Amino acid sequence: MAHTEVLLSGENITKIFGDFKANDNVNFSISKGEIHALLGENGAGKSTFVKIIYGLLKPDSGNVIWKNEIIEINGPKHARELGIGMVFQHFSLFEALTVLENISLALPEKNQSDDLENRIETISDEYGLQIDPKSRVLNLSVGEQQRVEIIRCLLQNPELLIMDEPTSVLTPQEISKLFEVLEKLSKSGCSILFITHKLEEVRSLTSRATILRRGKNVSTVETKDHTAKSFSQMMVGHEINTNKYEKIKIDNENLLNINNLSRPAQNQFSVELKDINLSVRGGEILGIAGIAGNGQSELMEALTGEYLSIEANKILFNGFDISNFKPNERRKLGISFIPEERIGHATVSSFNLSENFYLTDYINDNSSNYGIINNSFNYENASNIVNEYDVRVPHNNPLASSLSGGNLQKFIVGREISRKPKLLVASQPTWGVDVGAALEIRSQIIKIAEQGAIVIIISQDLDEIFLLSDLISVIYDGNLSKQFNKEKVNLEKIGLLMGGSS
Ligand code: ADP
Ligand code: MG
Repeated sequence: MAHTEVLLSGENITKIFGDFKANDNVNFSISKGEIHALLGENGAGKSTFVKIIYGLLKPDSGNVIWKNEIIEINGPKHARELGIGMVFQHFSLFEALTVLENISLALPEKNQSDDLENRIETISDEYGLQIDPKSRVLNLSVGEQQRVEIIRCLLQNPELLIMDEPTSVLTPQEISKLFEVLEKLSKSGCSILFITHKLEEVRSLTSRATILRRGKNVSTVETKDHTAKSFSQMMVGHEINTNKYEKIKIDNENLLNINNLSRPAQNQFSVELKDINLSVRGGEILGIAGIAGNGQSELMEALTGEYLSIEANKILFNGFDISNFKPNERRKLGISFIPEERIGHATVSSFNLSENFYLTDYINDNSSNYGIINNSFNYENASNIVNEYDVRVPHNNPLASSLSGGNLQKFIVGREISRKPKLLVASQPTWGVDVGAALEIRSQIIKIAEQGAIVIIISQDLDEIFLLSDLISVIYDGNLSKQFNKEKVNLEKIGLLMGGSS
């Protein structure tokens, strides 16, 4: 598709936070009706750039050019008046209010009218964004909430729609619906700037892509000339090995069984676990898919022992009834955990790496003896992890807080795997981690399964679930589906279960 008429461009946009250049002379342009992808690893500066275009941040230097004129966007309100709309990664809807009330609250006065409900219905028909204006937001799925946000943008007739990672929370079915909407919008002349880390999406949806790396733009390319592999090379800056992981299947005696585990909701924000059953053997990886907030954290707490008062005989591990074992009692049996939150849960940010090693190893006689911490043992182990798991550190034994997210995660994974666990439970093991580090983390997880460990991965990333797992279950509203053999189930089926159909 030839798009000639440029709608918006950024010229030499630079944004500095402290002494860090989040955007370093970025050049970008989008044509009328074009769907343009903005790609880059975590921290590359994508959100910063779109926030500048939407008036949420002011650039330190450079120009934003809108319809051939240099403009200064004073804020989101100004951006919307110009014709720029944005759908955020995290929605900003009031749960207790209806769709209509939410939309009405957010619209500027000039877009308000008595027939708002009709206008919502017209837009929702025109673009296939099915929604009942009278339903309360708290009863809507994430995909439906996103529709509300899109309708809200469309009511203001945008000429440019910005979407920051809109698909990371959607099921595959919701993603294809969204793409149909975006294609329709683009045909009607609206330009779309689309941020994603799912590279296959880029190829099916967009005509051009701009790649950012460490705040700088690497290049702008026609997407049809590229593959997921070449995109990730441009993002990372060197060749990466994207070969499929080959996992050797072994059988051994390790066994985890969960039988009819239920747990009431602890408060209004927590999810009730309903009659959970699972069974995994050593050598197997069970992937638990699901959209966030469907009971993943509650299940994780039951697995780690952070939540006790479970009835007896619900969780059985290698002949032990561990239902009410505390985390350290579980660790002693050879169970390792990788929680979702890197800082605060998996590590203490103001502790150095050897102290963070000690945190999950102090039950071990070598780490401390009669209450005296064996510093050299912990130091040596932490250093070994740094070397073996390729953790990039600024200097020896740094504070956890001085590592980037991906490197800290490599340390945590290394710490838990180096203990040679018989059961490894990992929640979102590569969330927010760059492509290269994710590759290494996943290889380590496969290796420990090949050595006989039972592995359970809880992840919202369906690609990751399909890459790693032998068995796949879906958690939805506190229910865990049956376990599917990966070979016998497809993305579509799992996506439907994630959306609540059975
Ligand atoms: P991306 O969206 O590509 O993941 P961001 O644009 O969010 O990246 O962030 C780029 C870098 O700028 C990150 O290292 C981030 O920590 C930093 N950064 C973003 N916003 C701020 C801020 N308000 N203050 C300080 N640093 C920030
Ligand atoms: Mg971002």
